[in-house]
Amino acid sequence: MTRVISLNKLYMPTLKEDPVDADIASHRLLVRAGMIRKTASGVYTFLPLGQMVLRKIEQIIREEMDATGAQEILMPAIQPEELWMESGRWNDYGPELMRLRDRHDHGFCLGPTHEELITALVRNELRSYKQLPTTLYQIQTKYRDEIRPRFGLLRSREFIMKDAYSFNESQESLQETYDRMGEAYGRICERCGLDYRPVEADSGQIGGKVTTEYMALAEAGEAELVTCPKCGYAADTEAGACICTPTVHEVDGLTKLETPGIATIAELAAFLNIPESSTVKALCGIVEGGEGEPDQAVALFIPGDHELNELKASKAFGNFRLMTDDEMEAVGLPKGSIGPVGLPAGVKCVCDANLKDVAQWAVGANDHGYHYVGAKPGVDFQVDEWVDLSTVKAGDACPECGTVMDSCRGIEVSQIFQLGTKYSETMGATYLDANGKEQHFIMGCYGVGVTRTLAAVVEQHNDEGGIIWPVSVAPANVVVIPLGKGGDEVSEAAARIAAGFAERGVEVALDDRKERPGVKFADADLVGWPVQVIVGKRGLDAGNLEVKVRATGERVDVPVDAIYDYVAGLDLL
Ligand code: ATP
Ligand code: MG
Repeated sequence: MTRVISLNKLYMPTLKEDPVDADIASHRLLVRAGMIRKTASGVYTFLPLGQMVLRKIEQIIREEMDATGAQEILMPAIQPEELWMESGRWNDYGPELMRLRDRHDHGFCLGPTHEELITALVRNELRSYKQLPTTLYQIQTKYRDEIRPRFGLLRSREFIMKDAYSFNESQESLQETYDRMGEAYGRICERCGLDYRPVEADSGQIGGKVTTEYMALAEAGEAELVTCPKCGYAADTEAGACICTPTVHEVDGLTKLETPGIATIAELAAFLNIPESSTVKALCGIVEGGEGEPDQAVALFIPGDHELNELKASKAFGNFRLMTDDEMEAVGLPKGSIGPVGLPAGVKCVCDANLKDVAQWAVGANDHGYHYVGAKPGVDFQVDEWVDLSTVKAGDACPECGTVMDSCRGIEVSQIFQLGTKYSETMGATYLDANGKEQHFIMGCYGVGVTRTLAAVVEQHNDEGGIIWPVSVAPANVVVIPLGKGGDEVSEAAARIAAGFAERGVEVALDDRKERPGVKFADADLVGWPVQVIVGKRGLDAGNLEVKVRATGERVDVPVDAIYDYVAGLDLL
């Protein structure tokens, strides 16, 4: 039998005013609802109500992890520096790693993640291919000295993560575990009531790393996404492929126009009275050569209504950076009027693949204060390389189905990652294969931000009155609210009704505080219990209770005897 949560005894310090340092809903409401308190910048305490929600989310994650066959462990937060030196990350991780020394001057860090620890754990004991695949997980506190802790639980310095690590024999086996984890991650989001999109991102570095991020759609999110309304495809604009159709400004042959003082795409489009999508934007960069190799100057051309994606340029060329104004001048590239026709010798011409079928370009003329219209690729100039260079945006086509995409923002609540042999090689973690030969483990890692998920749920489920918890993660599903001073008939009836819910296995709270009805109503809305059962003298005399559904605000009078069936039938619990 579940117990009735007595709000009179519960440590639930609700606030009428928003905390001054909170600019997003989840931060504001979790503090006001008495669920969290700030201890230091990016460091929070969970109060009883917050802890109840946290445990619900953890339980969902635990069930989904167990169902994949992963096994729960608990590793320490404190990690010896030797392991991080082995992996090379003691230096690579930078100031985000919280470092400390013990009384014997041994170095440690507070773990931001656990690849080193788990690899060291299994390397001597997971020995045979017969034990593979093995996946271990934990739900544990992580530390990252974020440069800018903000948005409450969304980007904190101490947070709870579920992290899992798989040890596989082959790429196929890793793919299987990865896919199963991906499905579990989708179910975790769904069961927490999150509107989410898996976002594919090929990190593109050596070793063919594959990774998927799970994004909860929310304005407060730091990630900018494009989403397909038809097939559900979604991508981070930082990484997503850009497929667009530039418009064409058709003229009779290559024409050089005097364009005094025109340096930006907006000015050019206005001058020519054409949309920006009919213009071509130029950017200049340098691809730094390796040892003994010379640097290469490149002129990049992209559709005028798009932005250069420097990440894509870096992926395409290696060590890429934009030129300074001085460097442009030194090479003979006239800022504001750069074009593909008559580029200075030695400057490589690289164009966005979306421009390939654009027959005529309106673009700089490589002459200060002049632009061309009607510049034809392959005729008036040659292109050295066609590459995907632009940042995808709303209005571009879905790479999967061609539908026009929308844009929105997302909170990265979780991420799965194929690590390959990165850690097993640097840390010497091997097993014996069927032929008795030492092989490096092929690894995957899988992380859910537990506290970030909690905040993401609030971002998606709130209104001006407060939080609206989905039943799956609510601290309790029903709050019974007696309107009265206590010790009277109304209070007794409310206590009896609450006990009846508990007997039926329904998680229930009883607002037995000596507060005015207005305070109780406001707090019930703020805390976000899914169902409110209001017990008043007048209603009781008529044999009725009032039921309010938090999500819809709907209020219905229900006969006392029918209350349990009515609430059960709400299709909420
Ligand atoms: P971000 O890009 O947001 O900094 P990350 O990609 O570095 O996150 P991972 O290493 O993938 O994070 O960690 C797994 C999960 O842990 C993330 O998906 C996120 O939900 C959570 N997480 C990471 N950093 C924080 C943080 N500072 N505060 C709260 N949760 C976090
Ligand atoms: Mg991540």
